[in-house]
Amino acid sequence: MKNLAVVGAAGRMGKEVLLLLENNDDFKAAATVDPHGRTSARVIDEVDPDRCDGVIDFSNPSSTIKVARWCAKNKKFLVSGTTGLSRSQQNSLKSMGRKIPILWAPNLSLGIAAMKEALRAFSGLGNFDFQIEEIHHRQKKDNPSGTAIALQEVLGSALGRRLPKPISIRGGGVRGVHRILAMGEGEMITLEHVAMDRAIFARGALTAAKWLCGQARGLYGVDDLWEQQRRKR
Ligand code: NAD
Repeated sequence: MKNLAVVGAAGRMGKEVLLLLENNDDFKAAATVDPHGRTSARVIDEVDPDRCDGVIDFSNPSSTIKVARWCAKNKKFLVSGTTGLSRSQQNSLKSMGRKIPILWAPNLSLGIAAMKEALRAFSGLGNFDFQIEEIHHRQKKDNPSGTAIALQEVLGSALGRRLPKPISIRGGGVRGVHRILAMGEGEMITLEHVAMDRAIFARGALTAAKWLCGQARGLYGVDDLWEQQRRKR
């Protein structure tokens, strides 16, 4: 049984992770970190490194960088699902990945990983027009979503051209909808992923943590994880 520190523990995702950890054979929550709520620490620096093996983080970009530095200093693995990291923050993660295993994934659902695979098959649709749309709850801070940007990158590189910016819609409590419109002359494909429950991301984070325990240092993405799992099947 390995000990985890959960960062962003009082947030929507942190609570989902803690719920799953109540009945988990591989991990337990040794520390909960959040400046809000009833947690064992307000910031990561208050956590005793001897009491944890790794960290799961769903907080915000500046916190994620502090957490990654702490993990690198104390040789702990890190799974982060935090979105909205700038290029320079992503580069910081990359350099911290030279010291410890880090998996950073703006979307930890298996369905989105499959959707990316499906998009690679669109490479032959050179004369189609494309538009990505995403819908999220009204509290979501980054815009467009990290997932929409990742889908745009995959599709753009499959087609070998730049695509229009994703359209973002914010409202209600929508967990996450990502829709790809592929529009040709006389035909249209719509590919849609709907997250109905936040638990899918929390489950993904724990699967990622289990996988990451066996990896060498480096910065990994969710594609590395799902690719290995698929090869095993
Ligand atoms: P939230 O606002 O409900 O929770 C974030 C929590 O982080 C808050 O409780 C906040 O107090 C805490 N926090 C802020 N600064 C902190 C610090 N320095 N140390 C510790 N905790 C700190 O947000 P959420 O909906 O739980 O989402 C969190 C992040 O995860 C966002 O970036 C979101 O986009 C992302 N997310 C990713 C996935 C995925 O699959 N990768 C899925 C859902 C959400």
